[in-house]
Amino acid sequence: MNLVFLGPPGAGKGTLAIRVVDLLKIPHISTGNIFREAIAAKTRLGLKVKEIIESGGLVDDITTIELVRERLGHSDTAGGYILDGFPRTIPQADALAVFSKLDYVVNFDLPDTIVIDRLSGRRVCRKCGFNWHAAFNPPSKEGLCDKCGGEVYIRDDDKPESIKKRLEVYRSQTEPLIAYYREKGNLVDIDASPQVDAILVNFKKALKLS
Ligand code: ADP
Ligand code: ZN
Repeated sequence: MNLVFLGPPGAGKGTLAIRVVDLLKIPHISTGNIFREAIAAKTRLGLKVKEIIESGGLVDDITTIELVRERLGHSDTAGGYILDGFPRTIPQADALAVFSKLDYVVNFDLPDTIVIDRLSGRRVCRKCGFNWHAAFNPPSKEGLCDKCGGEVYIRDDDKPESIKKRLEVYRSQTEPLIAYYREKGNLVDIDASPQVDAILVNFKKALKLS
C-alpha cells in the first residue's frame, strides 16, 4: 500500500508511522529524517540543507524530488511505503504523481495552538528517534531516553522562531495539497489531537484494515 502522511509539524505523523510500519510491514520514508541524518553525517546534501532546515524553511523542490525519486527506486518499497513529510508543495505532488501511484493520502488535522504546545516541548532521542515531551511525556531522567539510554535533545528547528516559520510555511505551501488530493478522491481525514493508540484505531477504520 502506497501512503502519504500529510499534516502540520507536530501532528504525530512520525509517531503513527512507526506503528504502521509494524502493522503493514512497509518502510517509513521521512524526508525530514533523511535530511537530519545527512546533516549529522555532514554529507554534501547535509551541508546544503542545514541552514534552511534549522530556520524552518523548505528545502528546494528539485533536491527533494530527486531524493524521493531515488529512495522509491529501492527494492524495499515494492510492497508499498509510507511517505512522511513529502510532498510538501504542489510541484512535489505533481512530480510524485509521475513516478508513483498513491493508494491513500492521510491528512492529520491539528489546530495551530496544539502544534505550538507540542513542538515547543518536544524532546527527541538522538539514538532511537523517540519523541518525548518536556511537559506531557518527559523521560524519567532529564536528557536521557528511557527506551534506549540515548541522549534526548531539542531539534534546532523546534526553537520558537523556527516553529512559527514552519507553521506559516505549512499553511501557505503544504495545506493546499489537502484540496489537491481531496479532488483526486484519495484523501482520508484523521483527527490528530488524541493519543497515538486512538489515532491508530481511526486510521485502521478509515483504511478498512480491521
Ligand atoms: P516536521 O516535524 O516539521 O513535520 P520534518 O521532520 O518532516 O518536520 O521536516 C523537517 C524539515 O525538513 C522541514 O522543516 C523542511 O525544512 C525539510 N523538509 C522535509 N521534507 C521536505 C519536503 N518535502 N520539501 C522541502 N523541505 C522538506
Ligand atoms: Zn531512545
